[in-house]
Amino acid sequence: MDWVNFREIRARISIADVLARYYRIENLKQVGQTLVGPCPVHNGDSARAFHVDLDKNLWHCFTGCKNGGNQLDLVAAKDQVSVREAALRLKKFFLDDDPTPAAPATAVPPQPNPPAARAPAPASGSKREKPANPPLDLELQLLPDHPHILEDRKLTAETAAQFGIGYCARGILAGCIGIPIHDEAGQLVAYAGRRLKFSDAEDLGKYRFPKGFHKDRVLYNLHRALLEADGEFGLVVVEGFFSVMALHQMGIRSAVAAMGSELSDHQAMLAAKSRHVTLLFDGDPAGTIGAMKAVEKLAPLTRVHLGILPPDAEPEDCPADLLHWLLSGARTHNLSSLAIQTTPLPLGRLTSPETVH
Ligand SMILES: [Zn+2]
Repeated sequence: MDWVNFREIRARISIADVLARYYRIENLKQVGQTLVGPCPVHNGDSARAFHVDLDKNLWHCFTGCKNGGNQLDLVAAKDQVSVREAALRLKKFFLDDDPTPAAPATAVPPQPNPPAARAPAPASGSKREKPANPPLDLELQLLPDHPHILEDRKLTAETAAQFGIGYCARGILAGCIGIPIHDEAGQLVAYAGRRLKFSDAEDLGKYRFPKGFHKDRVLYNLHRALLEADGEFGLVVVEGFFSVMALHQMGIRSAVAAMGSELSDHQAMLAAKSRHVTLLFDGDPAGTIGAMKAVEKLAPLTRVHLGILPPDAEPEDCPADLLHWLLSGARTHNLSSLAIQTTPLPLGRLTSPETVH
């Protein structure tokens, strides 16, 4: 039996190579580091079915076969062979006439995860490269019944518990409201801290993130929201953590946060795991511009609607019925016409800018 080094094959043959050179597929469209097009595995004709993450060398089909994985899984699924046989086919096609010896980590061309020296042979079909945000193996002690949560934010104890937030008395987030952040698989990857001391928030920014944390690779609350995203508004993308929690409390449980007014390419790809996305960015200039850019990124990937908040409002400023009305309005407007509503909206309550976000 031939020895197959899955890791080496995945390190040396990119998913782009497999698609372009092995299969000669030319009908995929590139958006940032994402390829989108009809699924070559089930040969569907939906132009948005098949998504490829060129950075991670991962693919996923959102319609027909709903399959996904790495380069080897792609060949295994398309050629209907085992992962091992897929590896052998790629090796034969790409590597057997190539005299380059098994490359050491440093010589491997662009590859996010250089092979470890003594790593065990990867299980066939292993789908994940080393994540940008590895799981955290500590848990902070947080006190949920803090006035910032219950009074300033008007969140209930149940909501605080649901999202695991609370006041942090000691350690690196001392004096902050700690907010656990999970990746799309539901693994805890970081804690963000909302600074409470006014001068700190002014000088250092309202939020602190751990060093080395890649905010652009995560959508806050995605692991919970995706399970609820089949509803009327699909996945609702907002800017901030507390908007997600406020929406949750208003019965909209499919909200995720970009953690800022800019949706990264990777976040767009994550959001596009839902077949319908509604953007609801803040009504300030940064949010309005961010929402427009996000629409451009999402439109090729999934069905997208744009909810427009009153000037300078954040989602949590709006009463529940206004928010539902806005989101329903977004759904009935066709984005291709991009008619922006400028009529003043009935706003029940607006908190002062200082208490929001
Ligand atoms: Zn498919």
